[in-house]
Amino acid sequence: MNEGSTAHYTPAQRYTALAYGLVSHALFLASVVVMFWSLYNGLHMSLVHLHGGTAVLMDVLLVVQFAVGHTLLLSDRGRKFMTRLAPLGLGAALSTTVFAALASLQLLVTFLLWSSSETVWWMPSGGLKLLLSGLYALSWILLAKSMSDAGLDTQIGSLGWRAVWRGERPNYKPFTRTGMFRHSRQPIYASFTLILWSAPVWTPDHLVIASLWTLYCVLAPVLKEKRYLRWYGAAFARYQRRVPYWFPGPVRSIKSTTLKPTDYDVAIVGAGPVGLLLAGLLGQRGLRVLVVDKRTEPLIHSQAIGITPPSLEILSKLGLEEEFVQQGVKIRDCQVFGHEQKLGCASFRDIPGAHRYILSLPQQKTLATLESKVASLPTVTLLRGMEITRLEQDAEMVSLGGEKILFTARWVIGCDGHKSRVRDLIQMRTRGGQYGCHFLMGDFEDHTSLGHEAHLWFTREGAVEAFPLPDGRRRWIVQTPQPVIGSDHGLISELVRQRAGLDLAVHDQLNQSPFSPRWLQAEQYHDGRVILCGDAAHLMSPIGGQGMNTGWADAEFLAEVLIAIEQRDQPALPLLEAYDRCRRCASTVATQRAARGMWLGTRTGVVSSWLRDTFMRECLFKGPLAKHIGPYFAMLTIPYNTIKSVPEKVFALR
Ligand SMILES: Cc1cc2nc3c(=O)[nH]c(=O)nc-3n(C[C@H](O)[C@H](O)[C@H](O)COP(=O)(O)OP(=O)(O)OC[C@H]3O[C@@H](n4cnc5c(N)ncnc54)[C@H](O)[C@@H]3O)c2cc1C
Repeated sequence: MNEGSTAHYTPAQRYTALAYGLVSHALFLASVVVMFWSLYNGLHMSLVHLHGGTAVLMDVLLVVQFAVGHTLLLSDRGRKFMTRLAPLGLGAALSTTVFAALASLQLLVTFLLWSSSETVWWMPSGGLKLLLSGLYALSWILLAKSMSDAGLDTQIGSLGWRAVWRGERPNYKPFTRTGMFRHSRQPIYASFTLILWSAPVWTPDHLVIASLWTLYCVLAPVLKEKRYLRWYGAAFARYQRRVPYWFPGPVRSIKSTTLKPTDYDVAIVGAGPVGLLLAGLLGQRGLRVLVVDKRTEPLIHSQAIGITPPSLEILSKLGLEEEFVQQGVKIRDCQVFGHEQKLGCASFRDIPGAHRYILSLPQQKTLATLESKVASLPTVTLLRGMEITRLEQDAEMVSLGGEKILFTARWVIGCDGHKSRVRDLIQMRTRGGQYGCHFLMGDFEDHTSLGHEAHLWFTREGAVEAFPLPDGRRRWIVQTPQPVIGSDHGLISELVRQRAGLDLAVHDQLNQSPFSPRWLQAEQYHDGRVILCGDAAHLMSPIGGQGMNTGWADAEFLAEVLIAIEQRDQPALPLLEAYDRCRRCASTVATQRAARGMWLGTRTGVVSSWLRDTFMRECLFKGPLAKHIGPYFAMLTIPYNTIKSVPEKVFALR
C-alpha cells in the first residue's frame, strides 16, 4: 500500500495532468448526459440519418466498437497502449484518466452517431410513464452507488491526474468487497443492464442496444475476473466462492465448526498492546492461542500513555486494573492555555464511574504487564522474533508462517499495527490520508511544578502538550512547522520555552521521536477467517490519545465474538459483521474527534489563534458544553466503548 507516498512531478507534468483530468471529466459528464437522455427516449432521436441496411450496419458497429474497444483497453495490451497516450513520462500515472476519457468517448460516439429507425413501438404515458421513469432513475442511482463502492476516483479517472497534481504516486487499491460488492461481484455491470431494460420508450434501436450490451455485461466480467485472479490470487478466489457473480444474492457463510484439527484456535499476529490484550482475554476463557511478533524484544520507546476509564474496565476482566492503576499516574485535570491567558480546565473529577481520571502509563510498562499476564495463561503461547509473511486460508482454517507454513489456526487476527502485513496479505483495501501536521515528542525528568495535571498551550506559534508520567517524568509534545528529521535534543526545550515560558534542561531529556499523524480505515475488518484489530484496522491521530484505547475495545468485542463462535457454536458471519459495524462506527467517531481536536489545537497566527481562544474560552469551557468535556476526552461518549454498551439486539452475544 503506498497511500499518500510522494513523487516528484515538474510543473509541466502537473499542468498536463490537470488538462487531461479536465478533458476526461468533461467527456465523462457529456457521455452520462447523452446516454441518460438517449436511452430514456429509446434512441428514437438522432443526429445522423442513415437509412436501411447502412443504418443497421452502422448501428451494430457502434454497439460492437464499445464492447470490443472497452474489453481491449482493459486487457494487458490495452493497458500498455494507454500508457503511450500521455506525454512527459506520465503514461502510467495517467492511465486511469486516459481510460475514463476513451470509454466516455466511445459512449458519446455510440449515441451521437446512432441512426434511429424512427419507429416507436411503445411509449408509456401517465402513471405508467412515471413508474418506469422512477425505475430508470433508480437504476442510475444503483450504478452511481456501485461505482462509488468500487472507488469513484478509479471509475471516473480522477485517481491518475489528481495524484500527479498533488505530487503523489497513484494509489491503486485492491478489489472491493463492501457496499453493493457484498452481494454481487459485478454490481456495475448489473446496474448498467438494469438501466438498459428499464428505459421506458421501446423502439427497435432500444432492443438492439439493450440485447447486445446485456450480452456484453454478462460476458465481459468473466475476463475481468480472470485478471483479478491473476492480480489478487487466493483473496479474490475466496471472494468468488462467497459472493454471487452477477445477480445479487446472500453471501455464502463461513463454516463455524471445523473438522480439520488445527494447532491453535486463534493465531494473533502482533504482540502490541492490542494483540496481547486479545490473547489474554481469549486465553483466560480456555482458547488455544498463539501470539507471534517479529520483534525479539517488546518496544522500548513509548507511544501510548493515556489509558481511559473504559479501558480500565476492560483490563479488569484480566484482573489487571489494580496493577495498572498502581503503576500509573492519575490525571484528574487538564489545564488549557491560549495566547497569554488561561482558557479553562478540562476536569475528569466529575465524570461518571469508578475511575475519574485518565491513567498515564508508558506503553513499555503496559506491554510488560500484559505480557506477564499472557505468560501466566497455560493455553497461550507467545513467540517472538518471527515475522509472518504468508497466510493461506480455506473454509476451515488458516495456515501461517514465513518462508514456510509453520502453524495452523481456525482464526488469524492481524494485530500487527498500521502497516499491517496481514492486511496486505488478504488484499484488503484501505482509505486514508495525512493531516499535514507535525510533532516532536520527548520524555523528560520532570522538575516543573505542574504536578499530576496535564497542560496544553495553544499558541500563535504552535501547540505544546505536557503529560505527567510515573517515576517523576513528563512527556512533552511540541508542534513543529515541518517534519523534524534527525534533530539533536534541544528543540523541544527551545519551543517549550518560547511557547509556554518553562525551562526544560536539555540534559533531562530521555528520548525523542517525531511523528506526523495520519489516518487510515480498512475497508472491511474481516475476510474469511482473517480478522483485523487495533491499528491494523484503523489508524487515527495520536493527538487525543485514543488509538490504543480504541484497539482495546476492538479486542474486547472480538474476544466475545470468537468465544461465541468457538465455544457456543454461534454462526460466524453475523458476528463478524457486527464486529465490523460496531467497531468501525467507534473508530470513525474516535478518528474524527482526534482530527477535530488536532485541527483546533494546531491553528497558528494571530487571527486563528484569537478565534480559537475565544471559542474555547467562551463556548467550550463555559455554558452547557463545559460539563461534556470530561466525558468526551475520557472516551465515555464513544459508541460501543466497552462490550457492555453494545445493545443485545445488535447481535446475540450473551
Ligand atoms: C506518539 C504516539 C503517541 C500515542 N499515544 C497514545 C495514547 O496516549 N493513548 C492511546 O490510546 N493511543 C496512543 N497512541 C496510539 C497507540 O500507540 C496505537 O494505537 C497502539 O500502539 C496500537 O496497538 P496495536 O497493538 O494495534 O499495534 P502496534 O502497537 O503497532 O503493535 C503491532 C505489533 O505487531 C508486530 N508486527 C508487525 N508486523 C508483524 C508481522 N508481519 N509479523 C509479526 N509481528 C508483526 C510489531 O512488531 C508490533 O509489536 C499513540 C501513538 C503514537 C505514535
